[in-house]
This record gives sequence, structure tokens and C-alpha cells, in this order.
Amino acid sequence: MAKVTIATDWLAACAGCHMSLLDIDERLFPLLEMVEFTSSPVTDLKHPPADGVTVGILTGAISNTHNIEVARRMRSHCQILVAVGDCATFGGIVATRNLVGTDAALKRAYLETESTVAGLIPDSPELGIPLPLVTGVGEVVTVDVFIPGCPPRADDLYFAIGELLAGRVPKVLPPEHLKYD
Ligand code: SF4
Repeated sequence: MAKVTIATDWLAACAGCHMSLLDIDERLFPLLEMVEFTSSPVTDLKHPPADGVTVGILTGAISNTHNIEVARRMRSHCQILVAVGDCATFGGIVATRNLVGTDAALKRAYLETESTVAGLIPDSPELGIPLPLVTGVGEVVTVDVFIPGCPPRADDLYFAIGELLAGRVPKVLPPEHLKYD
């Protein structure tokens, strides 16, 4: 039987959600009999295959224009899009930037910290343009499954992948598989 293909990518994120995926630990071995991870920060392949994947997983918030491009690219290359983690679900810790505003946060971080000397706000086009408001992924593309948590537990990610392999697409997981931080 053909393997189910999965691509993952991260937006404005730390590596915690991907680490939680790896924390599935030895259960990864039987899982890899059924699924193939294509592009992912874990495999270090950057773009989903041109012919697409069954499941796309995004971690991290939408914080800049580059994040929007990556989210749209994943959405257009997968059948089922899963937002993993608080950041991808509703902005998470990244969205605390909204409390002060993007301009003030950039100034404080790059120009005004007590240890800054001749600071400079980065503006390379490769970084994308910071957005005025940090949001979850669902604000820019349609998301099929939300798995909050910072990060979600490995057991819950394993459960969710099992549901998808069984042909079920839960919009949100049952309460016992949701982690509130
Ligand atoms: S939800 Fe938590 S662990 Fe996941 S990317 Fe955001 S900050 Fe990191």
C-alpha cells in the first residue's frame, strides 16, 4: 500500500512543536511503515513535492509576509492542513507582540535594549515584512485540524496522525487530547 505523505514547515515558531513530533520516539518506526515525511525541518527538504502531499503540518504563527507565502504554499500542496501548536492555532506566544504593536516591539528588540550598541532593525527582503498583527494560520488559509498546546504532547500528535491514517479528520481533538497552557 502506498504510504501517506506528510510535509511539515514552521512559520514564526520555535522548534518545540517539531521536537514534540520527534518525541513520538520509538513509535516513529512503525509509523514510518505507513507514512513518508517529505519536506520538513526534520528532513531538511525545504519545499513540499510539486505533486503535493496528503497531510501538511504547519507550526508557528503568521508574523510576516514570508509566513503568509509559506502557509499558502503548504495549503496549495496538501489535501489536509493541520495547524500544530498554540502559535499556529491562535498566534500563541508570538502574538504577545500585538500587546505593544509591531513597530514598538521591533524598536525595543533591536534598538533600545540595554545591551544594544548601534542597533539596526533587520530589513532583508528574505525575512519578509513584519505584519501589524500576529495571527494564527487560520486567518490566512483554511485549516482542517487544529491541535493547540505549547507544544502539544507527543501522545496527542500521535493520536491525531492515527486519526488521519484511519480516514477521520477531526476539526479539533477530543478534550482528553487537548492541552491548555
Ligand atoms: S506553540 Fe509553543 S512550542 Fe510550538 S512553536 Fe509556538 S512557542 Fe514553540
